[in-house]
Amino acid sequence: MSRRKAEPYKIKMVESIKLISREERERKIIEAGYNQFALRAEDIYIDLLTDSGTGAMSDNQWAGIMLGDESYAGSRNFYNLEKSTNDVIGYKYLVPTHQGRGAENVLFPILIQKGQYVLNNMHFDTTKAHVELKNGRAINLVIEDAFDTEKEHPFKGNFDLNKLDSFINEHGVENCAFIIITVTCNSAGGQPVSMENIKGVRKIADKYGLKVVFDAARYAENAYFIKKREAGYEDKEIIDIVREMFSYGDALTMSAKKDGIVNMGGMIAIKEDEELYTQVRSMVVPIEGFPTYGGLSGRDMEALARGLRESIEEDYLESRIGQIEYLGQRLIDAGIPIQRPVGGHAVFVDCKKFCPHIPYYQFPAQAVCVELYKEAGVRGVEIGSFLLGRDPDTKEHIESPMELLRLTIPRRVYTDNHMDVVADALIEIWKRRDTLKGFEFTYEPEVLRHFTARLKPIE
Ligand SMILES: *Cc1c(COP(=O)(O)O)cnc(C)c1O
Repeated sequence: MSRRKAEPYKIKMVESIKLISREERERKIIEAGYNQFALRAEDIYIDLLTDSGTGAMSDNQWAGIMLGDESYAGSRNFYNLEKSTNDVIGYKYLVPTHQGRGAENVLFPILIQKGQYVLNNMHFDTTKAHVELKNGRAINLVIEDAFDTEKEHPFKGNFDLNKLDSFINEHGVENCAFIIITVTCNSAGGQPVSMENIKGVRKIADKYGLKVVFDAARYAENAYFIKKREAGYEDKEIIDIVREMFSYGDALTMSAKKDGIVNMGGMIAIKEDEELYTQVRSMVVPIEGFPTYGGLSGRDMEALARGLRESIEEDYLESRIGQIEYLGQRLIDAGIPIQRPVGGHAVFVDCKKFCPHIPYYQFPAQAVCVELYKEAGVRGVEIGSFLLGRDPDTKEHIESPMELLRLTIPRRVYTDNHMDVVADALIEIWKRRDTLKGFEFTYEPEVLRHFTARLKPIE
């Protein structure tokens, strides 16, 4: 691999982190019931739990914070955010929300009638929950290759367009609410969707008269992948790719905690449909707040207005995606099975292959996750059968198609030295992987069990 360029920023403020001793880590993880969600952040050295809201804001964003206008109605920061939305995304109407799920909560009841299907490449978990809370049915139509971790495919987030068309055809367009394109496809490992595929979705939507809504959390990373991997886009500016992507949609919901590079925030944006905008504007008031703040303080809207513009700077994206590739390549070089190619915000370790001796109902990815904390104070997260839970009818553990350890990289927070610590630790664990043990519950809550469950190793 050619030598990477240095980060396109220098550091003006630092936050201390410390590595507590191995004995302390072993005590802390027992106290936490072998559940990384129950650890205190101060006991973690390198925190790769999520890239959501964990990014570092720039001096420019912090300066914007001081210009917060906390007027209840008509804050200047709302108009700045509206301008950024118009410029970067190309949509006319903006309604801020406190985060992505707030946007889903406001928009979905307007678009879903009872029992209708919502068609997505792959629903993010809160998105699926909001579809179901509004009495819709969430359908995933991502290509099959997304589930084969070793198969190299440049756009593993793509819709299977044949499946999309035949699903609508078979179930009747009147039973379909709308189509969501998730960029990048979070649940498939931060995998991008190609422009060609987005155009294909638009064509099918037009054929049936359905709306297309982007789930836009990682719009900038998706655009960067299009530039790097799709013919015809190599010389285009990121902003032009972002605008072209969104031109094929009617509206979007966004968790701004990802590519918006803010610690809290979200939005609904609408291309030009004034009637939809009017409905959203009246729905947002009782749920999130008056339409010129939507659950955000003025200063937070200003930070987001600036973050939207920073996220599409190409040297930043090159550095960010390059860092994830760097970590991924170190693991690949050591023979550790990871999802390929690496996606936009995380490296996913394939723990079915890492610990083939641990069955799914003893949570192989959780075993690697716990070991990584003990080894180096690094917190990752299990995305597998522990997360998936039990079948509501049979009460049996559901077997997840993949057992993944996600190492999620916050934006502009860690250096490559931190990545080396993570890689070195995993390589050590890989060498003694046969000794890792599975887990069983000492406490198992009924819903969303992975957040609060307590575990013990099976001796
Ligand atoms: C994070 C995320 C959401 C939910 O957003 P929050 O800001 O966490 O409420 C929705 N969709 C995708 C694809 C996400 O990554």
